[in-house]
Amino acid sequence: MRMFEHDVVLVTGAGSGIGQAAALLFAERGARVGVLDRDASCATKTIEMIQRGNGWGMAVQADVTRGDEAAEAVGAVLERFGSIDVLVNNAAIEFSADVINTSEEEWDWVIAVNLKGAYLMSKEVLPAMKKKKSGSIVNGSSISGLLGWPNSAVYCASKGGIIQLTRQMAVDYAPYNIRVNCVCPGTTRTPMIERLFDMEEDREQAMRKISTMHPLGRFARPAEIAEALCFLASDDASFITGAVLPVDGGYTAK
Ligand code: NAD
Repeated sequence: MRMFEHDVVLVTGAGSGIGQAAALLFAERGARVGVLDRDASCATKTIEMIQRGNGWGMAVQADVTRGDEAAEAVGAVLERFGSIDVLVNNAAIEFSADVINTSEEEWDWVIAVNLKGAYLMSKEVLPAMKKKKSGSIVNGSSISGLLGWPNSAVYCASKGGIIQLTRQMAVDYAPYNIRVNCVCPGTTRTPMIERLFDMEEDREQAMRKISTMHPLGRFARPAEIAEALCFLASDDASFITGAVLPVDGGYTAK
């Protein structure tokens, strides 16, 4: 299935976890993939994995909170591959604290990575998509964008913001045949989540507790979230825009 054979896909935060799984899946389906990450060595590792599967891509080191770096990254991909057909705004950081225990600096940093980053990357990619009157943007939200996850004030706020940014951009750019959607993953086994469990006193018990909160009784695999990102990006979703898709083992159905 090489449904992205003629496409260039740019994935942010593609050096790890869900972003890496998405970059690999897009490449497997024929896309040329821009693997953007703040961490250059992680991005290079993803590219090596893509190359081992006979895929095609380029590593781009950039911090999505920086307008100048976002512009340079998008410029580099456009120069090398000629277009960007799909943008996946996936880069984000987790932060556990309630409002009282979140400093102003911490608030600003998480919002900058998780929300402003998607705005900055979209702002750079959209003009090229508008020009060719086609494109697809898929944003990474979370079940934490749909409900209040305990001790997660700024993370929830940032992911709720992504949902509204998705809907808003879907309306503005539909006349240019640009679709904008988002996915809301449940708990997924990635380095981000492993780091959180590492902080628990009883790791195994914490993992059991969170996994059984998902009606399917387990965590997601990164590849399962990547499938949803690929679907929304693809022509199979050609009449879907402004959609908010939970991929959460039933978590938000309860
Ligand atoms: P991860 O930590 O494994 O990977 C995130 C990647 O983003 C890392 O490679 C990191 O270097 C990169 N990154 C961080 N800040 C960046 C910046 N400023 N500029 C560029 N790159 C940056 O995380 P993950 O679990 O794969 O999460 C991916 C997405 O899925 C995030 O949007 C996250 O909020 C969302 N999500 C994850 C889960 C989960 O359980 N893992 C659940 C719901 C939503």
